[in-house]
Amino acid sequence: MEFPITDLLDKENCTQWIIEHFHPNGFGCPVCQVGVDQARKFRTTKRSQLTVYRCQQCQAAYNLYTGTVFQQHHLTPMQVLLLVRGVLKGEPATILSAELGINYPTVLRLRHDLQANAEQLQPETPLLDDETETDEMFQNAGEKRV
Ligand SMILES: [Zn+2]
Repeated sequence: MEFPITDLLDKENCTQWIIEHFHPNGFGCPVCQVGVDQARKFRTTKRSQLTVYRCQQCQAAYNLYTGTVFQQHHLTPMQVLLLVRGVLKGEPATILSAELGINYPTVLRLRHDLQANAEQLQPETPLLDDETETDEMFQNAGEKRV
């Protein structure tokens, strides 16, 4: 049974979590740095249901993911939240891909980017241990041989 977990999470709560964790200095224009209160809502994206803002100072368009590793990936805030959670918990990319409805290469790419960012921030505490990475490597090698 597939559990529709992304449908059960509240979009506003997820959005708030993303703002707090990915824009700790405040969410706003990536170009001139004024806050989102100085932007107008421009449109809503189709797949990720994100509000696109237009800065009233410099006319730049941006959304919740601008300047983050999730930029251009068309994920909903619920998918982003659960993907980050899954990566932190060390869940396999195959499971995350199936549960969250995100294609496998995208999960791998985002996990890599998140880990690279985390290592940059805290070089002494990488997110996953070597064993998980090794398992993944063997799985991939196995797939190629078949
Ligand atoms: Zn601006």
